[in-house]
Amino acid sequence: MDGDVIKLLCDGLPAEAVLTDPDITRSYANDMASFCPAGRPAAVVLPRTVDQVRHVMRTATALRVPVVPQGARTGLSGAANAIEGCVVLSLTAMNKIIEINAVDRTAVVEPGVVNAELSRAVAEHGLAYPPDPSSWEECTIGGNIGTASGGLCCVKYGVTADYVLGLDVVLADGRLLRTGRTTAKGVAGYDLTRLFVGSEGSLGIVVRAVLALKPAPPRQLVLAAEFPSTAAACAAVCAIMARGHAPSLLELMDRTSVRAVNAYARMGLPETTEALLLAAFDTPDPAADLAAVGALCTEAGATEVVPADTEAESELLLKARRLTLTALEAVKSATMIDDVCVPRSRLADIFEGIAAIAAKHRLTIGVCAHAGDGNTHPTVCFDPADADEARRARESFDEIMALGLDLGGTITGEHGVGLLKRDWLARELGPVGLEMQRGIKHTFDPLGILNPGKVL
Ligand SMILES: Cc1cc2nc3c(=O)[nH]c(=O)nc-3n(C[C@H](O)[C@H](O)[C@H](O)COP(=O)(O)OP(=O)(O)OC[C@H]3O[C@@H](n4cnc5c(N)ncnc54)[C@H](O)[C@@H]3O)c2cc1C
Repeated sequence: MDGDVIKLLCDGLPAEAVLTDPDITRSYANDMASFCPAGRPAAVVLPRTVDQVRHVMRTATALRVPVVPQGARTGLSGAANAIEGCVVLSLTAMNKIIEINAVDRTAVVEPGVVNAELSRAVAEHGLAYPPDPSSWEECTIGGNIGTASGGLCCVKYGVTADYVLGLDVVLADGRLLRTGRTTAKGVAGYDLTRLFVGSEGSLGIVVRAVLALKPAPPRQLVLAAEFPSTAAACAAVCAIMARGHAPSLLELMDRTSVRAVNAYARMGLPETTEALLLAAFDTPDPAADLAAVGALCTEAGATEVVPADTEAESELLLKARRLTLTALEAVKSATMIDDVCVPRSRLADIFEGIAAIAAKHRLTIGVCAHAGDGNTHPTVCFDPADADEARRARESFDEIMALGLDLGGTITGEHGVGLLKRDWLARELGPVGLEMQRGIKHTFDPLGILNPGKVL
């Protein structure tokens, strides 16, 4: 069977686009999630054109072979993990920025374009593509669309779903579907574009995207505030949002995260703080906004409020925040990164609950959060060689999701369901929601060959 699929793939693709050496294909088996099984791909295909992608999907349909689309494999839910005997369809070689249109404020891109490269390219036109996952120097626009990813500045500018205007999608049987629009407005028919955002490669292969751009905002200035407790820091977050401020970033790091970043990169963050809040403004007068927010932090109990005077200082603080997940990964030999998002009014409750779960299971759980969005990243640090600790890690991870749902939240704010949270989806959607979603999957992928076993 593997031989059949490889032969048929090679009939329509250049030889260098089809990788079959197991030593190489093995390196495409996993994304960055822990605890997610991965199979051995029959082949990894690196197409450069839409026609080549269509050939892959026609072949897969003819032979009923599963296809796993991949971007940069920075995903944190196992959604890009290979399935035994599958074709891995890596879109990383389709990495052209086709057009940047300053009048329409749009960019047309291939799926393998790296997020930060797009940001730099549009900046030359005085424009910005806001969604900025911390992995932005590696992750691709196709992967961002697959996971509906967010990032640091989403509290003000929204998430990937808010910027995808239209898509070209190769369907399971190889047909090409064009969704959405290139116009500023448009309501013709059901919003299939939005349906594909966050579908984790389970409905079709994104081969081209029309993205909305914003005028580049002024440079932001960042403030750091130290708090004696996470509860006080969360009270400051609520006060900032309730008073109508519009920070371009509002991030929270707990003591474990702060210490991990210092240990990893000698950043000199305050080691004694229980919670470090970072707020930023890219408004015409960021210093005035920071002063107002600084006062609210002090009112909420901050022991130290330090506004950055320069862009360089601001960048350093942001670097510390962007490094947090990587730094926590260095605490023990493995991590499980949760992604529970709650209404921001319940942020203090989830921090308190996670601390209780960590104490109960005798585990280190560092929490950083896109606090302005209520989106927490509790990161369970554990040693997978210690079976008991690994079991406790998995239990704590599940308990955090249960807590998030109890608080009116969602099991995933931006990382997606993948394999990691598949068993939890039914709890969040309920039976009717699940049945509707299965119907959608069947319409787009009647043979069940597109990233099977992921999401649903
Ligand atoms: C250090 C670190 C920090 C991170 N920070 C953030 C963060 O701040 N915010 C955030 O949201 N995420 C974050 N992530 C998670 C991850 O970077 C995002 O989910 C990102 O969007 C994945 O992009 P990727 O190119 O790596 O996609 P992959 O991991 O390769 O794929 C992700 C999903 O998209 C699908 N897919 C990929 N390309 C296509 C395509 N062309 N067509 C159809 N489906 C496709 C895959 O099948 C898979 O289901 C972080 C990860 C790391 C390691």
